[in-house]
Amino acid sequence: MVACPKCGSLLDVCYDWARLPVPKSLDEFEAKWERRSDPLCFSGIWRFHELLPFAKPEHVVTIGEGQTLLHASDGVAKYVGGRSGRVFLQYEGLNPSGSFKDNGMSAAFTHARSIGARRAACASTGNTSASLATYCSVSRLMKAVIFVGSGKIAFGKLSQALELGALTVQIAGDFDDAMHRVGEVTKRLGIYLVNSVNPFRLEGQKTIMYRVLEALRWEVPDWIVVPGGNLGNSSSFGKAFAELKQLGLIDRVPRLAVINAAGANTLFQLYEKQGVRWNGGKIDWPTVEAYYRKLDAAGRRASTIASAIEINRPVNLAKCLRALDVCDGVVREVSDQEILDAKAQVGASGMGCEPASAASVAGARLLRREGVIEPGDRVVCILTGHQLKDPTATVAYHTTDQAEFNRVLGSRGVRRATHANRAVAVANDLDEIIKAIQLYS
Ligand SMILES: *Cc1c(COP(=O)(O)O)cnc(C)c1O
Repeated sequence: MVACPKCGSLLDVCYDWARLPVPKSLDEFEAKWERRSDPLCFSGIWRFHELLPFAKPEHVVTIGEGQTLLHASDGVAKYVGGRSGRVFLQYEGLNPSGSFKDNGMSAAFTHARSIGARRAACASTGNTSASLATYCSVSRLMKAVIFVGSGKIAFGKLSQALELGALTVQIAGDFDDAMHRVGEVTKRLGIYLVNSVNPFRLEGQKTIMYRVLEALRWEVPDWIVVPGGNLGNSSSFGKAFAELKQLGLIDRVPRLAVINAAGANTLFQLYEKQGVRWNGGKIDWPTVEAYYRKLDAAGRRASTIASAIEINRPVNLAKCLRALDVCDGVVREVSDQEILDAKAQVGASGMGCEPASAASVAGARLLRREGVIEPGDRVVCILTGHQLKDPTATVAYHTTDQAEFNRVLGSRGVRRATHANRAVAVANDLDEIIKAIQLYS
């Protein structure tokens, strides 16, 4: 069960902090580094166990996730118009399955184990399924059932689900359809649901923020910029900061920027255009419902090259509105062109990411241009997934083959590959090769 039987809203994990042992200051967590041979101290999730205390230690499922990096990128700082040393990339692609989803999966598996679940299912744009398949195959605790929309999943991700042995059900529809069906099927068959409607996933994802703070020596940055799809990440970040503030472990919260793809911009439309707010929990649902009815009437489906955020009906809308409220948030939309240009800049600056992740950098750039983010602000962009997740988009961007470019990207409204690094074609001839290298290097 993931929703309240009475009102239908998603369940939320709440703690009675007064009765729990909570560290007096965040740097107490550093003591755990010395005990790294204990899996609960090694994991980047469970090192912060006191802040997600729903789990009994004996139930914890960890495969060593959360060894991720906060990288100050001057190349990206220059691109977004921020100051050198003030723009950071939180690289979650380093997780075992290559995306931030492992943060939540470790927590959901821990809960599933505590209730003795034998099968787990998800609908996925790819990374949740890759993560679920990874946790199933490594831990051997459950069998994975995965629902994907047809033709809507990047090859790197699908390859993980298939190779890791998950039962993969391809539905003739998109993610929103798959999400709807997986809810029905899990209810009917009593299968544990690991989509981010599962509140324990969000508990695990809070730790991304703890690791950001840890890397900044427990100083709160000015901005967290994150791509928004199903809005689990943004929701969990808001919860993390609200709790830290409540516990007196931080004295202020950062501002939150959630970035939609323009082709899947429900949150942007509702929050920025129609003024829908958390409003103390009294969300204006009639406006939201009317918006969805309009989408349906127009036959509009989510459409973006950033497949991980190609979602029009974000399940965590309410919790995300709460996060935006806590963190004085803003929402922006960026085009596929902006996403791919930003992605090329992220890659050229060191660590590559998949298209959805680059929405954060494109969004930071937009907010800098608008003057919402100030030049000296400390900005953390979350790189949600690894570069190798979606090689099709990357290769098409850098290709010299115009037909391939048009097929993959032109259909998305992408016109230019401004930052392409094109392969140099040369004859199989030593002199020609040497000439080319001298010409281009
Ligand atoms: C799942 C995913 C997202 C979207 O995150 P939400 O929590 O659903 O908003 C963004 N980027 C990548 C790489 C993802 O896998």
